[in-house]
Amino acid sequence: MNRIVERAVVVTCLGHSGSTLLDLILGGHPRIIGLGEVFATMGNLARQKSEKSENVCTCGRPQAECPFWGPVAHRIRSGPCETHEERYGAVLRTFAERFGPGQIPVDISKNPSDRLRSLKTIRSVSPGTDIRVLHLVKDVRAYAISRMDRDREKGKTRRPSLVLFWRWYAQNRRIQRDLERAGARHMVVSYDELCLEPATAIRRLTDFLELDPEPAMAAISETHSHTLRGNRMRRDPEKNRAILYDYRWLYRNEWVLPAALSPHIMRYNARMAYGNLNRSRWENRGAGR
Ligand SMILES: [Zn+2]
Repeated sequence: MNRIVERAVVVTCLGHSGSTLLDLILGGHPRIIGLGEVFATMGNLARQKSEKSENVCTCGRPQAECPFWGPVAHRIRSGPCETHEERYGAVLRTFAERFGPGQIPVDISKNPSDRLRSLKTIRSVSPGTDIRVLHLVKDVRAYAISRMDRDREKGKTRRPSLVLFWRWYAQNRRIQRDLERAGARHMVVSYDELCLEPATAIRRLTDFLELDPEPAMAAISETHSHTLRGNRMRRDPEKNRAILYDYRWLYRNEWVLPAALSPHIMRYNARMAYGNLNRSRWENRGAGR
């Protein structure tokens, strides 16, 4: 098997970490095309018997008419596309044909049992592809609040916030360890930094990806993504127009106790979520005295 695409970007993170926002930002670069959660989308396409689908792509067209997912669906249904590898191969081949081999796909698939699944699959179906992994992290307090609210919306039992803190810590450390072991070229991207200092955070992204800086990436409405499955943000035009910070945790207090009980998690959180902020802006007052 040969290399199908020259380059690919994979985002790995826990749920509720802002991957939809990152996908829209990345898709604002002229060389990048976000494909959303590729595994979930492939599974949906394979399950559908006909072309009929309610799904609308972020390109504004219904699934069957989307210039990308339309042909992918056709390819998957006309088979043989039984395994995940075969389906992923169909996705990458369609991508290279439609957009050219120089364009870069982004996969934001989340798989709690194997966070490196996209990386491994691309390595196996398209050996030699230059894959860069973005490990997306969101402030543990914001993550916990977001999860608790979602559980409540869905009528599920709310997990104690301390459990969510431990989960966030254990899983992010595991992602880091697995990325090191896999020898992946990777970088930590903070959702909070993207929202608080978008220009700097986006510049770090393009530097890591070795792409020309593109100021338009901060205007997420310019995105070139083709995403069929996503969260409410994609369907909410207000939220789709600009980078909008999820600040619920600022006026809530469920995180206070777990934060007090877990100083090691809070230190790790400060490093991961705010390690690159330009703090000197606030801290150099009186430096000349
Ligand atoms: Zn589309």
